[in-house]
Amino acid sequence: MALFSSWIDFLFPPLCLACKERCRTKFLCPSCWNLCALPDPVERCRHCFEELDGRGNLCKQCRFEKLLPAERAYVFDPESPARYLGVEWAEAMASFALIQWIQLEWPRPHAVIAMPDKDSITIGSAFAAMQQVPFVKALRQNHEYVDDRLEEDEIYLLFDVSNSLENLKKSANSLSLSFPKRIYLLSLFPYVDRVS
Ligand SMILES: [Zn+2]
Ligand SMILES: [Zn+2]
Repeated sequence: MALFSSWIDFLFPPLCLACKERCRTKFLCPSCWNLCALPDPVERCRHCFEELDGRGNLCKQCRFEKLLPAERAYVFDPESPARYLGVEWAEAMASFALIQWIQLEWPRPHAVIAMPDKDSITIGSAFAAMQQVPFVKALRQNHEYVDDRLEEDEIYLLFDVSNSLENLKKSANSLSLSFPKRIYLLSLFPYVDRVS
């Protein structure tokens, strides 16, 4: 059996999905797994999760003007090798999100809403199930709010896999029209505008 598995390794060497090095660990090599560590909320801007410049707990941009009407955090940093794990592992991705949500010490939401794309809906609903809170479809494909889906004076969590800031703005702005007390936005992999 050992001989057989070493032949399998020889024919199909297990490679790290991120750096393509040969490895004995599953999906990623040990150093890439280390790089998947969830960023510590204490070291980030408490409104948008950007790096701090040492002057209080808001970043320079948020001290000047807040770009989103929601407090935002990431589960993984943009360059995290966790991107290579694939969002089809909805349950696993939702578990990472749950760990980060606990670290963030955000209040328990009344319900979870997802950005209106397939991945955000799939992982967002798995995340809601893990938290044992309702999952509400409150956004249309065009980011419009679906009337009467949310209640005033409640706290909601908007789940995002990797939408652009422009789309997040559209959705968060239309949700804030329904007068929730507070919206928290949790992004699995923050979208990075590619500079060409
Ligand atoms: Zn690797
Ligand atoms: Zn900020």
